[in-house]
Parts: sequence; C-alpha cells; structure tokens
Amino acid sequence: MTALECPVLHFQDVELVYKGPPSVTALHPFNLAVRRGEYVTVIGPSGSGKSSFLNVVGLLDRPTSGTYRLDGIDAGRLSERDRTALRGRRIGFVFQAFNLLAHRSALENVMLSLLYTGVARKTRRTQAIDMLYQVGLGHRINSLTSQMSGGERQRVAIARALVNRPSLLLCDEPTGNLDSVSAAAVLELVDGLHAEGFTIVVVTHDPDVAARGERSLVIKDGHLTEAAKTDDRQRVGRHPASFSTGSE
Ligand code: ADP
Ligand code: MG
Repeated sequence: MTALECPVLHFQDVELVYKGPPSVTALHPFNLAVRRGEYVTVIGPSGSGKSSFLNVVGLLDRPTSGTYRLDGIDAGRLSERDRTALRGRRIGFVFQAFNLLAHRSALENVMLSLLYTGVARKTRRTQAIDMLYQVGLGHRINSLTSQMSGGERQRVAIARALVNRPSLLLCDEPTGNLDSVSAAAVLELVDGLHAEGFTIVVVTHDPDVAARGERSLVIKDGHLTEAAKTDDRQRVGRHPASFSTGSE
C-alpha cells in the first residue's frame, strides 16, 4: 500500500473504557477509515463521547482495546515519548476551551507550538507570523490573547494547531463559545483548509456545524455510526468495509 492510498486514520475494533469506578464505556468498539483530505464531522449530544473520540484520534488517550493506525503507524506500539512526537508532527488540535496562554501575545502562543521542533527561533517567528496572517490576524500579532474576542482567540488556536503543518486537524466544538458572526468566520476558515487538502475531523453538538463536513458521523451513548443521509446510503452500501460498528 502506498502512502497516498493509506488512510490517515484507521480504527479496528477500537474501544475506550474509563476504568472508574464506576467504569464507563465511552466508546463502544468501532471501525473507521478516514482518507486523506476528507472533512469529517461527528455530531452527538453532551456526554455522548465526542471529546473521548477526539482524544483517542489525537493520541491524548489510548484505546482500551483495538488497533488505531495514524498515517499507517500503529499508535498502540509506540512508547509515550514516540506518541508525543507523532502527535506533535502530525496532529493539530483545537480544544473546546482554546487552551491559550492569556498573558502572552498571539505570536507567542503560536510560536510555542514550534518550540520543540528544533527550528531556529527566527524561523519559528516567521512561520508563526505567516500562519497568523493566513487566519486573518495579521493586524493582531502582538495583541495579548486575553484582550481578544472569542472569534479571534479561536483563530489563534487554529493558527497554533496548524503552524507545524500537521496532516490532520482536529476541532472540539470549534464554534461552541462563539457568537454567530465569529462562528461563521471560523467555519469559513475550516472550509478553506479543507479546500487546501487538510484532513479535518470536527466534533460538535450543532447540526449547522456538522452539515459543513463532506461526511457526517453520529455518536450516541458511545456508539459511532455513519449518518444515514438518503443520498449517502448507496455510497456507504458500496463500501461496507469503510465503516461499520464493531458491535454489529
Ligand atoms: P462529550 O464530549 O460528547 O460531551 P465525553 O467524551 O466528554 O462526551 O464523555 C463521554 C462519557 O464519558 C460521559 O459519560 C462522561 O461522563 C464520561 N467521561 C469522560 N471523561 C471521563 C474520564 N476521564 N473518566 C471517566 N469518565 C469520563
Ligand atoms: Mg466534549
């Protein structure tokens, strides 16, 4: 299999159980393959397992069982150190609560992402500035994030996630804390990244956000399934191996 054919994400019978007590099965066994350049959205209500799913995708949590391959690499076989390195190289994560340093500038926040890449400071600075221009924040480079609007902070968070040129962008409720105008701007930014060829996974409780993806999944009580759009049924039917729940 060449690198181009290899799915970016490949899950086989992956399950996530929080040990507790009480133990919680946050993700029931599922199979899923996501191709390079796909824009996938996962919709589900609060507590359905969206963040748990994204944390597994983003190598922040290890599955309890099953196999997860990222760009063909079996994440389960990696040491903690190698997982961290893989995450840093391949994944851009936009957290629900932004997770920015409030008393640092937009530029410093984005540069932090490049700290452990071995890139010289001057180059890190140039790359971070370029990225802030790309998300429409060229005029806010030196502003403290604590003095920015929610929409601007979310764009800093996206710039920080993208500056390492990851193969995969993950967003947890990217518009959850935003007014409708800022939310629309962030969604347009994500559309643009999709057009550039990024592989994108967005989890959300908002049907309007979920509708932006080219492929929609639904999560309910930890069960992940392909959304049953009428015009999609044939496509799913033709490629039964591309997605099925492990419990079926
Ligand atoms: P969502 O993001 O859709 O709101 P989560 O993935 O955060 O849902 O949570 C899914 C389920 O797992 C919930 O029942 C939640 O209470 C539980 N859960 C989440 N994180 C933990 C944890 N660290 N330990 C135990 N249970 C957890
Ligand atoms: Mg969540």
